[in-house]
Amino acid sequence: MDELSLLVDLHRDGPRQGPGGDDETRLAITLSGLSGRTGLKIADIGCGTGAAALVLAKELDASVIAVDFLPDFLHHLGSVAAREHLDGRIETLAASMESLPFEEQSFDAIWSEGAIYNIGFANGIRAWRRFLKPGGILAVSELTWLTQDRPAALQQYWLRAYDEVDTASAKMAILERHGFAPVGYFALPERCWLDNYYRPMRARLAPFLERHGHSEAATAIAAAQEHEITLYEQHSAFIGYGYYVARKTAD
Ligand code: SAH
Repeated sequence: MDELSLLVDLHRDGPRQGPGGDDETRLAITLSGLSGRTGLKIADIGCGTGAAALVLAKELDASVIAVDFLPDFLHHLGSVAAREHLDGRIETLAASMESLPFEEQSFDAIWSEGAIYNIGFANGIRAWRRFLKPGGILAVSELTWLTQDRPAALQQYWLRAYDEVDTASAKMAILERHGFAPVGYFALPERCWLDNYYRPMRARLAPFLERHGHSEAATAIAAAQEHEITLYEQHSAFIGYGYYVARKTAD
């Protein structure tokens, strides 16, 4: 099995494929000012199995297009949405976040939790801005340094994994440079990483290794995940996910 298939196999059954939480999605919704509006059109980009899409569909009067390039995740979301009677509100779309088949100015909001890093923060907001209506909302969570300084080993690890990791003020400056006015920011609390993402994943590692006969590739993935979890447990004061809510400004 190739590495991508192994990663899908490890992550598909998790509650989320990245750090986050339903309460935090709701907080971002509150900050967005969208509550109470009707007939909204929202895209959730890099939706995974749809943790955020499900909250958006429940909390808002909206039709949600949930986009991911992995059909396995979308099938999972499709069956959960049907079970929760939200299938009339959530549509899934297998597409790359780099070339989305959307019309310009067609969305009231674009959501993306723990996914924009795949094409880079600046690149992503530049590419997605055109799909928002004037005054539309962008809500993204993104790997963020929580302090000005940090331990060297942590800095080295995350810079190698994602060279755009930066402080919240730097991220907000990028938003402003690309035609967005920040309207809200918060850092995801530790439990969004530990309770909702890392620890459920850690519990899946042993059965994952069993399923794949402790192959070299599966063992390497499990070791890398374990390393990342330990690093987070040691250094959660310095690294986190920032949740950025911003409004599209006039051209
Ligand atoms: N938003 C979800 C998933 C985050 S993990 C959550 O918070 O749980 C990142 C997701 O981005 C994965 O589901 C992955 O399949 C998707 N992804 C990565 N690169 C992508 C690309 N180029 N186009 C579309 N989706 C992509």
